[in-house]
Amino acid sequence: MGFDKFGIIGFTAQSKVDEFVDHLEEGRLMGTKCKRCGALFFPPRADCYRCLGSDMEWFEVKGKGKLLSYTKAMYGPVGFEKELPYILAIVDFGDYKVFGRMSKDVPEEEIKVGMEVTPKVVKLPEERIIYEFVKA
Ligand SMILES: [Zn+2]
Repeated sequence: MGFDKFGIIGFTAQSKVDEFVDHLEEGRLMGTKCKRCGALFFPPRADCYRCLGSDMEWFEVKGKGKLLSYTKAMYGPVGFEKELPYILAIVDFGDYKVFGRMSKDVPEEEIKVGMEVTPKVVKLPEERIIYEFVKA
């Protein structure tokens, strides 16, 4: 289990990556929260750049977010070529933002800035696991 299952986003700390994938396998998309100052991070970080603390806990990314921006990806990381093209999105959850891709279940013409979406963990063939956004 590890980074090879998850090819979209790079992470800063390898130990957090493994735990992140463990959570994904259980169907939860997680970020980290600084216990000292309360800052929320996605992708997960091992250290807080706001207060320089390194005491982090996990929180689950859930509920509705608003689509801030999106772009159509015509190429992607190795291993994801078959899924192309797909829509990459940045979603605002209020205290943090999450970068990810839109589900192909959402027709491209229905994707609009400001729409409400929610994250969903999806298992792909070959034991790969990703998260994507669906309509909230
Ligand atoms: Zn902090």
